[in-house]
Amino acid sequence: MEQISDHNFRVALYCRVSTEEQREGQTIESQIRELEKFAGEKGWSIAGVYKDEGWSGGILARPELDRLRDDASKNLFDSVLINDVDRLARDVTHLGIIKRDFERQGKKVIFRKLPEANDPTHNLLVNILGSFAEFERELISDRTRRGKRYKVEVRKQYLGAIAPYGFRLVSGQHSASGLAELQIIPEEAATVRQMYSWVDKESLSARKIAERLNRLVILPRKSKVWQLSSVLKILRSEVYAGTWHYNKHQRQEAKKHRIPRIYRRFLKSSSRLRAKADWLPVRLADDLRIVTPTQWQRVQRQLNRNIAFSPRNSKHSYLLTSLVKCGACGAGYVGDPSHGRFAYRCLRRCGKFPSIKEDSLNASVWNALAEALQNPDIILTGAKLLEQKLFAHEQRNENEEDYSRGLEQIRREETRILEAYRLAILTPAQLAQELETLKKRRQLLKDAMTKAAPPSPFPIALLRGPVHEASRVMAQRLANMEFPARQNLVRTLFTKIIFEGSRVRLLGNLPVSRKKTDDDSVSGRIATTASWCGEGNLFPECGIDFILERPVIKPPVPRDALGRILPYNPQ
Ligand SMILES: [Zn+2]
Repeated sequence: MEQISDHNFRVALYCRVSTEEQREGQTIESQIRELEKFAGEKGWSIAGVYKDEGWSGGILARPELDRLRDDASKNLFDSVLINDVDRLARDVTHLGIIKRDFERQGKKVIFRKLPEANDPTHNLLVNILGSFAEFERELISDRTRRGKRYKVEVRKQYLGAIAPYGFRLVSGQHSASGLAELQIIPEEAATVRQMYSWVDKESLSARKIAERLNRLVILPRKSKVWQLSSVLKILRSEVYAGTWHYNKHQRQEAKKHRIPRIYRRFLKSSSRLRAKADWLPVRLADDLRIVTPTQWQRVQRQLNRNIAFSPRNSKHSYLLTSLVKCGACGAGYVGDPSHGRFAYRCLRRCGKFPSIKEDSLNASVWNALAEALQNPDIILTGAKLLEQKLFAHEQRNENEEDYSRGLEQIRREETRILEAYRLAILTPAQLAQELETLKKRRQLLKDAMTKAAPPSPFPIALLRGPVHEASRVMAQRLANMEFPARQNLVRTLFTKIIFEGSRVRLLGNLPVSRKKTDDDSVSGRIATTASWCGEGNLFPECGIDFILERPVIKPPVPRDALGRILPYNPQ
C-alpha cells in the first residue's frame, strides 16, 4: 500500500474483551498497547480508540463498535486496526457484515496478526479465521455447560441462582460442605404445605388459593399480593417433593423486552421450558422435602383436572369434555358445535374416524356406566381384562427383548464360525455341523417366544364385596341425577374414553381400596354418597382400574306423530 508510512494515514483502534476472557486474565489495555506499538512502527497516526469491555463477540450490537461504524461514515479515520479477527466478531455472518460495511465506505480493516495483503486469498483467510472464532465461541459455551453438568450429575449440587419460595440459598462460604446449598425457611415452608393441602383436601383451584392467601394476608416474598402464576409455580414445582431439575429451561432471545435498551450484553435474556426428557433430576437431601411425593402427584392430578374441567373453557357443556380421545391418533376428541348441533371430533382431524353426534356418544357412555353399576360383575370382568392386557403387554415386551438379544448372539456366532472356516480352522464338515446347531438354537428361541405367557393371578373374589357395595351406592342415585351430577360421576369413574368409530373403549377407575388388611380381606373403603354427586372429586390412592368395550349406539331420532324428524333440542 502506498499510504503505509504516511503520517496522514489515520487509524482507529478497536479492542474487545469478553467477561470470560477477562476471567482468564486478558485485558483490554494489553490489546491497546500492542495496537499502538504496531501503528507507531508503521508511522500511522491514531484517530481514536474504541473499546468494548465485557462484550461477547457473538453480539453484533456493541456500543463502541457502533460508535466506530458511525465515525467511519463521518470519515474520522482511514482505516480500522484490530488485533485479530476474533476481536471483531465471533460470528462469521456478523464479520462479513461489519467488514463489508467498512469497505463500502473505503475504510480498510487491518488485522495486526494477519499478513498485510489485498487479494482474494487474504479475504479467504479472514473468513476461515472468522469460522474458527465462531467455533471457539461454541467451544467455550460447551465447556461451561459441561462443567455445570458435572456439578449436577456428580456432586448433586443445586445450581439455581435464586432459591425457590420456601428455601434460602446459602453460599459455599457459609455452608458446611463448602458448596452452595438450599435450606428450608420454616414459615414459608408452612405456607407451601398449606397450599398443597388446600388442593389435595379441598380440590381448590390455584386461583382460589391465591385469593385465600391474600384474604388471610399471608404475603409472598417480594410482592404485596399473590398472583395466580406464582401460586401455580409453587404447586407445579417438584422441588417441594425433593427433586430439583437441572436443564429445565433453555435460554433464548426475548421476543419483547420489558426495559427498552439498545445494547444488551446477554442476547438470551428469556427462557423457555425444555422437553421433560432433557431435564436432569437431582435428588435433594431428605430434610429438604416439604411435601411427600405422593401428595405432590395427587396435587398434579387435581390441577390437571381443574384445567380440563374448568367451566371457563367452554360455553356449551359437553358431558364428556376432555375425556374422549381419538382411537387412531390419540388426540383429544373435542366438542364441535356446528349449525346448532353438537358433536365430538378429532382435534387433529386425522380423518380415521368420523365425528360423532354428542347425543350418540353420551348415550353410549352413560348406558355403559349405568349397566356396569347395576351389574357390578361387569366391572370385575373389566378389571380382569385390563390386568390381563397390561400383563400380556409387559410380558411381550420382555420376551421380545430376550428374543432379539438371543438372535443377535446367534448371528455373531455365525459370523465367527464362517470366519473360522475361511481361515481353514474348520473343515467343511465341522462348519456344517456348527451351522446346524445354530439353526436348532434359533428354532428353540422361536418356540419359546410364541408360547403364551400365563396370566397373573388376580384376587377378583376378594374385591367382589367392596365393588358391589360401591356400585350399589352409586346406582341408587342414577335415575334422578341432574347434568352436573352426571358429569361429575362420569369424570369420577372414567379416566379416558377412546373412540374407535363403531365402538368405544372406556378406561375407568372405581374408587374402592384394593389394599389387603391384616386379616387378608379387602377393606371396603367406600366414598360417601356426597362426594359422588356434590362438589369436588374424590381420589383414593388406589382403586380398581377396569376397561369396558361397548359398541356406539345410535339414540332414536326424535319424530313427531306424523313421523317427521323433530328439531334438535339439547336439554
Ligand atoms: Zn385422530
